[in-house]
Amino acid sequence: MRYVSTRGAAPVLDFADTLLAGLADDGGLYVPESWPTLGSGGRGDYVETAVEVMAPFVGDAIDADAFAAMVDDAYAGFDHPDVTPLVELSDGIHLLELFHGPTLAFKDVALQLVGRLFDHELSRRGERVTIVGATSGDTGSAAIEACRDREAVDIVILHPAGRVSDVQRRQMTTVPSANVHNVAVDGTFDDCQDLVKAMFADVAFRDEVRLSAVNSINWARVMAQVVYYVVAAERLGGRRSPVAFSVPTGNFGNVFAGHVARLSGLEVPQLVVGSNTNDVLTRFFAEGAMDIAEVVPTTSPSMDIQVSSNLERLLFEMGGRDGAAVGAQLDDFRATGRFRLDAVQHAGLADGWAGARFGDDEVRACIGDEADRSGIVLDPHTAVGVLAARACRRDPSIPMVALATAHPAKFPDAVEAATGARPALPERLADLHERPERLVALPDDLATVQDHVRSCRRG
Ligand SMILES: *Cc1c(COP(=O)(O)O)cnc(C)c1O
Repeated sequence: MRYVSTRGAAPVLDFADTLLAGLADDGGLYVPESWPTLGSGGRGDYVETAVEVMAPFVGDAIDADAFAAMVDDAYAGFDHPDVTPLVELSDGIHLLELFHGPTLAFKDVALQLVGRLFDHELSRRGERVTIVGATSGDTGSAAIEACRDREAVDIVILHPAGRVSDVQRRQMTTVPSANVHNVAVDGTFDDCQDLVKAMFADVAFRDEVRLSAVNSINWARVMAQVVYYVVAAERLGGRRSPVAFSVPTGNFGNVFAGHVARLSGLEVPQLVVGSNTNDVLTRFFAEGAMDIAEVVPTTSPSMDIQVSSNLERLLFEMGGRDGAAVGAQLDDFRATGRFRLDAVQHAGLADGWAGARFGDDEVRACIGDEADRSGIVLDPHTAVGVLAARACRRDPSIPMVALATAHPAKFPDAVEAATGARPALPERLADLHERPERLVALPDDLATVQDHVRSCRRG
């Protein structure tokens, strides 16, 4: 399998090079040159289906036995034997729980595999990297858990001091591994992100420490997320019977993986995109237009995003895979802050997509009501997806699956406000608040942070 850039002007790569490259040289995102066709089998066993679904995307870039062993290992650490179990809500909507990994959010599903793939491929090449990232909460801990104790990787995560929740900070700072480094920056999340961007823009520094990232535009993350759409279909009626999905959406990586499953032959008549108050995507699906606005903080912070980077992959598909046209459309969007689909592109969206937005009040009511009715406690992100599923469902004879992207204990304040009870952390994290923390506090100063990153490298 070969990978092409959505802007059409970067080298064509195999899976392993795409994995390590992340973003394409021309600023685009990598996508497979063609979509594989799903076989008809599958018994709902997570690891078995995962190996089969991902094999055509990996091609011969990674040894098949080594790949299968990494998949097995990645999901052995999940809390539930089904890896991503299905439960039923009060109104018959199915909830696909994606939060049984180490950091209690769906990003673990992809990152647990991607960390292993990185380490495998770097070790094979005799290379090492320093992964640097900024986090406002969730992504940092998932990246740290994915990279801890990996030989070929050192990881440094910047977070804004005093501006992430206790649970979120402790999930990062209590990891005792020698290759894990946390920096509390005296500044905001945007300051952290600016520091990371500046480090990547400093070519000499980038080469010196072999800077790398595992962010949500990496193709391997999308690929690993395709699996649970297929697994859910298998468990509900088989790969050939239709299933609709509703996805609480930020960067559009998760829901795009559902679209990939559809392009590969899974029958998905409807993909519902749930948004919080930051609702550019709702307008995109309703009107074929987007206008950049300010990001508004909500109780579902991992969806507080205005420009969804993975949308570029959908635009590329809808526009007949014309990389030059996608590049021009996005340059124009950046310059004007406005985006318009042409009539043909918009018509192409009408069928299989829907979108809806919900404010924090509706989210709070949804969490409280569902806890009363079924005893199932939703986190605020998941509640957005459940609300969107209920609002947009077209055909009640087709099963609707809402994706549960975080464990309620990850957002205890919002959940307690909705239900009156504070959700408990799972057993294995019960002593999180007693574990020793490791972090350094640094000023918002590029040279100081760069010196620290240098000092974190092993070997
Ligand atoms: C990252 C995240 C999302 C958004 O997923 P995208 O792939 O960025 O659309 C939703 N919910 C939770 C809990 C997340 O951590």
